[in-house]
Amino acid sequence: MPGALLLAAALAAVPSAAPPAPAPEALHAAWPGVRLSPPSGSYAPEALRADLEALAGSSRGVVRIAEKGRSTEGREIAVVLAGSGPEKVLLWSQMHGDEPTATAALVDLLAFLAENGAEPATAHLLTRLTLVVVPMLNPDGAVRGDRRNAQGIDINRDASRLQSPEGRFLKELRDRYAPSAGFNLHNQSPLVTAGPGGPQVAIAVLAVSASRNEPDGPSLARKRGLAGHLARVASTFVPGRVTRYATDYTERAFGDSMSRWGTPTVLLETGGWHGPREEERLVRLNFVLLLSALHALARGEETADAPFYETLPPNVRGDLVDLVLRGATVHGGRGLPPFLSDVAVVKARAFAGDGRRLSSAAVVDVGDLGHLAGLEELDAAGLVLAPAPVGGAEAWEKVVSDLAARGLAKDGAFLLDDAALAREARAWAAGRAIVPWATVDLVLFRKGEKGLVVEGFVREGSRTK
Ligand SMILES: [Zn+2]
Repeated sequence: MPGALLLAAALAAVPSAAPPAPAPEALHAAWPGVRLSPPSGSYAPEALRADLEALAGSSRGVVRIAEKGRSTEGREIAVVLAGSGPEKVLLWSQMHGDEPTATAALVDLLAFLAENGAEPATAHLLTRLTLVVVPMLNPDGAVRGDRRNAQGIDINRDASRLQSPEGRFLKELRDRYAPSAGFNLHNQSPLVTAGPGGPQVAIAVLAVSASRNEPDGPSLARKRGLAGHLARVASTFVPGRVTRYATDYTERAFGDSMSRWGTPTVLLETGGWHGPREEERLVRLNFVLLLSALHALARGEETADAPFYETLPPNVRGDLVDLVLRGATVHGGRGLPPFLSDVAVVKARAFAGDGRRLSSAAVVDVGDLGHLAGLEELDAAGLVLAPAPVGGAEAWEKVVSDLAARGLAKDGAFLLDDAALAREARAWAAGRAIVPWATVDLVLFRKGEKGLVVEGFVREGSRTK
């Protein structure tokens, strides 16, 4: 059946006497009890396969491994089915190898379905929907921590040419199952704000266009509704931190193509949620959002939240960094006279979504940075900032003993005027300078009565003592 007809049939079949959908808070509370995914929020392909096989083996038929595709380098791409309903829903994650959050959430979601198959709301979902789940479309990229596949292709830009085995496999799945809804699951940069100057974005959604000017109709209503549902539920956990992902119609992208091929598709982009155990909290939030959206679909209520989608602020990039030091007196490491400056630092991350990936923390800007916000801000007025030597605390100890041997450090104070500090910092920094895209640790001094006193360091993008 063509996708459009199948969609119409699915929309016409309004469920009767559906049990109440579980509240998002209840799903959130259920997560620790079913959760299989690792604390890192990131699966290696072998560990993923082991968890999926264990789940399939113990779920009494609720969760089945349907088939396995093959990546460019021959790694397995598991497809997991759950439920037996007439309406097929395709969910795929980690087509970008370094975007693992939804993969972990999908495993936990499958574990929840396997565990709760007899409970009325879950049983209803499983008789209304058949989930077609691809937890990790790009295992070769996952192994390398790389967005792209082993060919170097961005699979999400290969929907027209289908030159990647992974892209071809995803297209085959779409054609075989003709799903009436699609979930395209990604991580975006955690350094994005909700509107200009807004807070850090945790979740961004998009009703993906099927054409440059998609006309109103059931497909668009379904996408807006699902995107609105994801956003509304997310907003109860991360208020103000949910946005609309801004992108134009992209013919060669998969979400757009899925929609064009007849599977209305929403994009879910997980950003950042600053604080301890960030990865786990984001996996848990994804678990709640996806399960809640599937309940809405199963109950035929998925268009109800379309108005909420229209209220979302846009994703804004380029305004947020990890750390800003404000108003420091900077000795940049090139032997120049000191100057007043802010300094912005971005950390390395195990996964960074579509942002610029760094293998080490880096200074990303210096100067007047009033337009930038930091997840952490440090008032550095009155502090003197210089590059730290490469080699951490040990290297710093050597610098201190060397200065002491020359009579320039005594009783924890450094007897250095501006010219001397400029000269010494240049020597110990050994070519590193506090300039954009430099990977350099920082040392912070305060001016004491006897000289400069170390106030702390910035190592790997974090303030330390
Ligand atoms: Zn992505």
